[in-house]
Amino acid sequence: MVFFWGAAGCQPQRPPTDRALDSTPESAPITEPDLEEPLATPTPVLASEHAIILEDQSSISLPPTLELDPLEFVFPAFDTQTISLWRPPLYPLPWEPTPEDHFYFTRPIGANDVNWPLARYRYGYLLYSEPHTGIDIPAPKMTPILAAGSGTVIHAGYGLYFVQDIYKDPYGIAVAIKHDFGFKGKVLYTVYGHLDRVDVYRGQRVNAGDVIGVVGETGKVSGPHLHFEVRIGDNTFFSSRNPELWIAPPVGWGMLVGQVVESNGRRIPQLKVRLVSLENRQVFEAITYAQGSVNSDAYYSENLVLGDIPEGKYLLYLDFKDQTVKTEIEIKAGQANYFSYRSTRGFDFTRPASKGVQFTPPEPLDPTIEAIPETGS
Ligand SMILES: [Zn+2]
Repeated sequence: MVFFWGAAGCQPQRPPTDRALDSTPESAPITEPDLEEPLATPTPVLASEHAIILEDQSSISLPPTLELDPLEFVFPAFDTQTISLWRPPLYPLPWEPTPEDHFYFTRPIGANDVNWPLARYRYGYLLYSEPHTGIDIPAPKMTPILAAGSGTVIHAGYGLYFVQDIYKDPYGIAVAIKHDFGFKGKVLYTVYGHLDRVDVYRGQRVNAGDVIGVVGETGKVSGPHLHFEVRIGDNTFFSSRNPELWIAPPVGWGMLVGQVVESNGRRIPQLKVRLVSLENRQVFEAITYAQGSVNSDAYYSENLVLGDIPEGKYLLYLDFKDQTVKTEIEIKAGQANYFSYRSTRGFDFTRPASKGVQFTPPEPLDPTIEAIPETGS
C-alpha cells in the first residue's frame, strides 16, 4: 500500500538539463524568449471560435506524467532569491470577491519568506502513485509556520495519518487546526506537515498568524518544506480541497481556475496548461488534477488551479497529446478567473451556475475538540 500522497510534497525534480520541468524554488515564472506567434491580438473573444491548432507540435509534446528520479532530487537553494520574487501583500480576510468564493486563510509562511506553492507540486499533481492533496511551500528548516486562521489545535505531533508506527507517518510531525469558522455549514481544517518542531499543544487556541511550529523535513520528504492542506467537513485525508482556492491572493494578482473535459464530460487528467503573458511573455505552467483522492470545489468543479498570477492579458494553451489549443484570457486581480474547455465545444468563460445553495459567510462553530486519541509527541 502506498502512503506517499499527502506528504510526498517534496518530490524529486528533474535534472536541470530539462528546462521544461526544471523548477525554480519559488515557482517564479520564467520568461520564454521566442514565442512563435505575434503578441498583438488584443480583442477579447469567445475562445471557442479561436481555438487554434499550432502547426509545429514537435516542441510541445509532453509525457503523460512527470517522471521523476529520486536520485536526482536537488532541493532548491534559498539564498539565491532575487527582487523579482517579491509579491504584494494579501487581500484582507475573509476575501470574498463573489458569493461562491472563500479565501478565508492567510498564508502559513510569513510574507518575508517565500509563501506560495512550488509550481511543480501543486494540488492534484501526481506524486509517485497518488495525487498530491495539498500544496508545498519551500522554506528553510526552522522557518516559522503560522496558523492560517483562528481555531483550536486538534493534533500536534506524529501520527496524523498512521495510528500505528506513527514515527513512519508520511506527514511526519504535523499540526491540524479545527477552525472557528466554516463554509456552508461545514467545518474547516488546515493541516501542516513535515515540521521540525511543534510549538502548540492539542487543545490550544490559536489566531491567524500565531506561530505553531517550524519547518522541518520529518515524514516522507526529500527536503525541508511545509506541506499545507485545507480540509472541509472531516479532518481526513479524503476531505482535502485545493488550498489555492482558500488562501487569499496577493493584491493585484489573481488566479486561473479551469475545468478541462472530454466531449462526454470526463475530466482530462494531467494535461499541461500554460499561461503566457501578452505583456511580458512570462510563462506560468500547471497540470490538471491526476485521478485519485483529490476533490474539486463544490462550485467550480475544477481540475486545474493556477494561483498567484499578476493581472493582465494572457494566452492560455492546452497541450493535448496531438495538438495544442489556445485562447486569450484576462486574469483579473483578486479573482478566480474561470474557464472551461470541452473538446467538442472549445473554450467557454461562462462561470458555473449557482448550485442553489445559499452562501453563508464564515460562521462561528463550536470549538469543542473532538475526541481523538493522542497519537504522538
Ligand atoms: Zn506536500
